Amino acid sequence: MDTATSTSRQEIRCDDCGQNRPGYDIVHFGSAEKGYRLLCSLCFNTQVAKAAGLEGFEHAAFESMGLSDCRGEIHEFHFRTQLLATSIALDAFELRNGNPTGYFFQIIGDPGEDQLVLFGRLVEKMRRALSVKHLKNGDYGLQISDQGIVRGRIEWDERQGGRLPLLVIDGREINWDQFGSMLMSYEGWQFKLTIADKSEEL
Ligand SMILES: [Zn+2]
Repeated sequence: MDTATSTSRQEIRCDDCGQNRPGYDIVHFGSAEKGYRLLCSLCFNTQVAKAAGLEGFEHAAFESMGLSDCRGEIHEFHFRTQLLATSIALDAFELRNGNPTGYFFQIIGDPGEDQLVLFGRLVEKMRRALSVKHLKNGDYGLQISDQGIVRGRIEWDERQGGRLPLLVIDGREINWDQFGSMLMSYEGWQFKLTIADKSEEL
């Protein structure tokens, strides 16, 4: 079974087309038995399309774009398309030192779907998310905003070695301690926690 995993190292040469691509655009393609090849997403998608018999599939590369959030701050988003035989995933993410960080959005579509339409749906989803802030600066530092709802992403915290998560809320990194302090403004209240796949919209 062929598997694919992403890597975040910077500027890696694609084993197929020979082009140097940023690490986030490179996929390890192959298997533990047969070995892995490093492919850029264009070459990866072309291989998948060939293997899945998806004739006429054309990889669409989307230029980075800036979107402003509800406070007027501009976020620069980069895009990545990955074809997965029965679906196509389109990711949007911010970069810091060449690595994806901050806001991340994903949309899943049908491999035969017009990628521009899919892109349009992704941008709408991003705009909806950027129009809301879940945290605010209060008298005691960063606090949960008045709506009492927090949406975010669970990430690996290097400093915790996997023991505690790093949260990304409003595109910013919040460690577990900081989040715990924010919750203490609501001592005695109840809460509801929902966990969802990264392509879902909460
Ligand atoms: Zn390539």
